Amino acid sequence: MSNYSKYWIVTDLDGTLMDENYDISPAIKTLHLLSELDIPVIPCTSKTASEVRYFRKQNGLFDPFIVENGAAVYGFNKSSLSEWELILGMSYKDLRIILMNISNIVNYHLIPLNDLNKDQIFELTGLSDQSINRALDRQWSVPFLNPPDEIFEKVKRVCQTYNVHVFKGNRMSHLLSSESHKGEAVNKLKVHLKNKDVKIIALGDSQNDLPLLEYADISIVVPGKNGPNKYLQEGIDKGKFRLANAPHAQGWSNSVEDVISNINDFKC
Ligand SMILES: [Mg+2]
Repeated sequence: MSNYSKYWIVTDLDGTLMDENYDISPAIKTLHLLSELDIPVIPCTSKTASEVRYFRKQNGLFDPFIVENGAAVYGFNKSSLSEWELILGMSYKDLRIILMNISNIVNYHLIPLNDLNKDQIFELTGLSDQSINRALDRQWSVPFLNPPDEIFEKVKRVCQTYNVHVFKGNRMSHLLSSESHKGEAVNKLKVHLKNKDVKIIALGDSQNDLPLLEYADISIVVPGKNGPNKYLQEGIDKGKFRLANAPHAQGWSNSVEDVISNINDFKC
């Protein structure tokens, strides 16, 4: 990617670009168009670096990527042929201990994804074999089973004591350092690539995307089949976020094409 692109598409993957079966096919044509226009597509996801490396390879993406809900950012340096890494987070090991402490305080067993067996993970995520190994390769966040809403609210309050915060995705919640979230990760990437004036077009579908959508210049909520996530409704009602006109990759594609058709000067 050009370090000086005027626009970046920064996108969540699960539930946004991908549907519940991890299908992105309705967006393939738009991804090709973005590549022709030299507009970077930067995944910004709760997935691990291992998962996103694999995803990029499958889909011919070469731009930097943000993983584990903003806890780390990666990119490839063409001249040194090596990957670079920016860490915003706290280590998995420390976060595991904090999750246990929080469980005790809220008196509810918060179960880390990595403690489930492969059958249970398949049931929850639809992933199997190598995909599970990639999903469990956590470095800077701890995913855990979504607790009931009232417990989640208690967990959020206790987090402040430990300098961590939690985000709720569709399938699971994530514990990570309060220094890291998707919006901060994009900010760090701008600084790293010395492109502070780039305009961010962000797409997300869940509560964990709020910091990204709030940070972006153009923010698009991609709904599920039953409409938008309740945590994003307020932003839509206030006119801060646009709502895509279809779920998942189709809505992603329609919204991105709509935005870029209204921009005439992509390049420097
Ligand atoms: Mg999502």
